[in-house]
Amino acid sequence: MLEKMNDIGIIVLGFGIILMVAHLFDVVSIPYVYVPMIVIGLLVLIIPALKTKKHRSPLCRIGLHSFVHKHWDEEIKYVAIYECERCKKRKKVVRSAGG
Ligand SMILES: [Zn+2]
Repeated sequence: MLEKMNDIGIIVLGFGIILMVAHLFDVVSIPYVYVPMIVIGLLVLIIPALKTKKHRSPLCRIGLHSFVHKHWDEEIKYVAIYECERCKKRKKVVRSAGG
């Protein structure tokens, strides 16, 4: 749902910018149609980002997590468990050291 919203926001914002550029260069004369399009596009992009801010930072949203080593897997001792400092996303990393 949020990702769909994101796509719509990018499309609306993109068209708004295209119309603005077209208008500036007198290619298409639809004055000020692009202004609400850009505003709506930005709002659609920003609102979901604000809503999810508590859970995921923008860096996490694009996959740049800040993983820190938390502990070792209880069952498999050479599997390290990393947790993102910001969004608490976990990943397991198999360590070959000592093996
Ligand atoms: Zn993260």
